[in-house]
Amino acid sequence: MTNTLELYDLTIVGGGPAGLFATFYSGMRDMKTKLIEAQAYLGGRLNSYPKKMIWDVGGLLPTRADQLIESLVAQAETFQPTIVLNQQIEQLERCPDGHLIVTSHTGERHYTRTLLLSVGYGVIKFSKLDLADVEKYEVTNLHYSVTDLEQFRQKRVLISGGGNSAVDWANELEPIAKAVTVVHRRDQFAGHEKSVKKMNQSTIKIKTPYIIRKVNGTQTHIQTAEITKLNEDGESLDTTENLPVDAIIVNHGLQSDLGQLKQWGLEMDERHILVNDKLETTIDGVYAAGDTAKFSNKINLLAGAFTDAAVAVNHAKTYIKPEAKNDIFISSHNAIFTEKNRALGVPEEDL
Ligand SMILES: Cc1cc2nc3c(=O)[nH]c(=O)nc-3n(C[C@H](O)[C@H](O)[C@H](O)COP(=O)(O)OP(=O)(O)OC[C@H]3O[C@@H](n4cnc5c(N)ncnc54)[C@H](O)[C@@H]3O)c2cc1C
Repeated sequence: MTNTLELYDLTIVGGGPAGLFATFYSGMRDMKTKLIEAQAYLGGRLNSYPKKMIWDVGGLLPTRADQLIESLVAQAETFQPTIVLNQQIEQLERCPDGHLIVTSHTGERHYTRTLLLSVGYGVIKFSKLDLADVEKYEVTNLHYSVTDLEQFRQKRVLISGGGNSAVDWANELEPIAKAVTVVHRRDQFAGHEKSVKKMNQSTIKIKTPYIIRKVNGTQTHIQTAEITKLNEDGESLDTTENLPVDAIIVNHGLQSDLGQLKQWGLEMDERHILVNDKLETTIDGVYAAGDTAKFSNKINLLAGAFTDAAVAVNHAKTYIKPEAKNDIFISSHNAIFTEKNRALGVPEEDL
């Protein structure tokens, strides 16, 4: 079976910031590289805050998360890796030849010398509105994420949630939408103090402690939402209002789970894979990087994810080719960059 599969030097599971930078770096280290992502899109957790400005990556001036995804994907594609979307990796087995096979939920198998797990906290799913039969509205006017503010222009928007994203979306939509109402099941908002203050001083209508109890509409569109007040024990009171709405945005947080990876025999704590200073897991040839990897002084930020990726890839390289240990591997020593620099108009003496 294995000899019918194409062998890769490094297979990277998870196409968030760590996996994308590892894909680039692995190509730079002349490894045949495959990246596998469970979702239909790359970027990982950055997709949960697409409009947020990122300020704290070295050398990167304030950049929106969706723009950073674009740059990371373009960079990851530099060495033409194989990129597989819509496949959640579930199983790991070792072949008699020592190489590894990972199998996805679709049953597809991927054959590799080394494996890098950059799976974050697992496949990310939005916590859904807990009401019967509302999934059908997800293709029209029930949203779990905001990618295009313009679609809400002159609309009556109801936002449910009390975290950063709910408060930020409310503030961003206030000048665009016809009316913005926020319902939250607690009296206090968990968003940044400054943002909550801005929301409180705006025209945004705030209903706390309220929840959405029911939505009504046609087969395709929600037209009204019944919101109900909660008592101190979180139980619904009879105070109900029926709000006409053009769109509902739900921000009840994210759920993620490492799923079947927890059965692989990796040393883990509740949410992380434990690694040593080479980013090696307890399974030979298997590395971890980014939010999923835990070691002392770990930084669970983009900067940490990028550093982990480079460290893990370098050790995967020497796992395959021990004599590569002392290779120089800064970008200027990879021949491909000479041509790319030339294309960018870099003078010959500076190539
Ligand atoms: C609201 C918010 C704001 C943030 N703001 C900042 C900031 O301003 N600056 C900063 O530095 N950091 C910020 N962070 C943290 C930063 O987003 C994370 O540190 C970073 O995304 C970690 O990248 P990662 O690649 O390790 O994991 P993730 O981004 O979580 O990506 C993991 C990927 O793996 C995929 N995956 C999981 N399991 C499987 C599987 N079994 N098979 C296939 N694919 C799988 C997932 O679908 C996902 O795409 C923020 C985080 C949040 C939540």
